Amino acid sequence: MRIREFVSLKKMTTLKIGGVARYFCAVERAEELSEALAFAREKRINLVVFGGGSNVLIADEDIDALIIKIDIKGIGWKEDSEDVLVVAGAGESWDGLVAKAVRRELWGVENLSGIPGTVGAAPIQNIGAYGTEIKETLAWVEVFDTRSGKFRTLSNKECKFGYRDSIFKRPKGKSLIITRVALWLKKSGTPNLEYKDLKERFRIYDLRFKKKRLTPLDIRKTVLEIRSRKFPDLRTHGTAGSFFKNPIISQGKFNKLKKKFPDLPGFPIFTRFKIPLAWILDNVCGLKGFCKGNVTLFERQPIVIVQNGKASAEEIKSFAKEISDKVKAKTDIDIEWEIQQIW
Ligand SMILES: Cc1cc2nc3c(=O)[nH]c(=O)nc-3n(C[C@H](O)[C@H](O)[C@H](O)COP(=O)(O)OP(=O)(O)OC[C@H]3O[C@@H](n4cnc5c(N)ncnc54)[C@H](O)[C@@H]3O)c2cc1C
Repeated sequence: MRIREFVSLKKMTTLKIGGVARYFCAVERAEELSEALAFAREKRINLVVFGGGSNVLIADEDIDALIIKIDIKGIGWKEDSEDVLVVAGAGESWDGLVAKAVRRELWGVENLSGIPGTVGAAPIQNIGAYGTEIKETLAWVEVFDTRSGKFRTLSNKECKFGYRDSIFKRPKGKSLIITRVALWLKKSGTPNLEYKDLKERFRIYDLRFKKKRLTPLDIRKTVLEIRSRKFPDLRTHGTAGSFFKNPIISQGKFNKLKKKFPDLPGFPIFTRFKIPLAWILDNVCGLKGFCKGNVTLFERQPIVIVQNGKASAEEIKSFAKEISDKVKAKTDIDIEWEIQQIW
């Protein structure tokens, strides 16, 4: 393991923003984490973990820490009669893993096609798309605990998954570095077409697919096609995908808003309602395509913030604050960031 000094993080993030790390290393073997931890302790600096950099806003200033890029690779497949347990290194590409699973005609992660980033980061915010979340297939994760310096395994239940949430985002889980992720995938399954966009696509193609059994590959191709129209191209835009979470509000608040905005969509979650923030930004706040300086709310998906390559982290933060304030003023809803702030 080689520890480098003064490494710029800007190009390692999809938002294309970030200062210079005092120390940086890529960890390819889980055992190297003990070495990295000892180094950080000796220097009395924090240790900050990083995967594909697709869900972070890194500060502009110098970062006096050891930044660890998780590069642990390797994928193993273990079959029983109905299921396959796939165990992947945290540094594997998430979408690469999905592509491999789909090629084997395995069900469970096809709706999560096209999400950037690493396998190890996927449980952090319980990645989700098109009606599926990783928590539905996750068997266990292997973690390195920086408090004890030991490895252990967390079951699905112990990960305490929620909407874009898990134990890893809470104080109790902040010391845990994910080194391997295991998923249960199914040899035979039925497509999850509950999500509006997918339902519509397959209704249009109903005739074409009538005589054909849908495969995970059919779903993957369709998801990738929908996503390519919804999300900005990472080669041309600085973005971290959805910047904010969709708010989950009480029934009382939902009813009140519904009176004011009768078309407001809402999806019940137990006694509360999840509402699409993109709808609020567009229809209530009139902010679709809103642009200030170098930062814009993406025209095709207003929950996504994009920058033109010249923005600073501070500019993104003040833009995000302006959006939050406008939503609060119009709806009395406090919106939360989905992306993680580093430093
Ligand atoms: C265009 C675009 C589209 C996106 N679409 C979706 C989507 O549909 N659904 C969705 O849920 N997300 C989406 N995202 C967000 C992002 O891709 C996911 O959150 C992804 O899992 C982040 O992976 P990463 O490796 O890039 O993590 P990073 O951005 O590197 O890190 C994210 C957080 O996880 C922590 N972390 C990373 N690796 C580890 C590890 N091994 N152990 C412990 N902590 C770790 C980091 O410290 C940081 O707090 C999108 C992002 C973009 C840019």
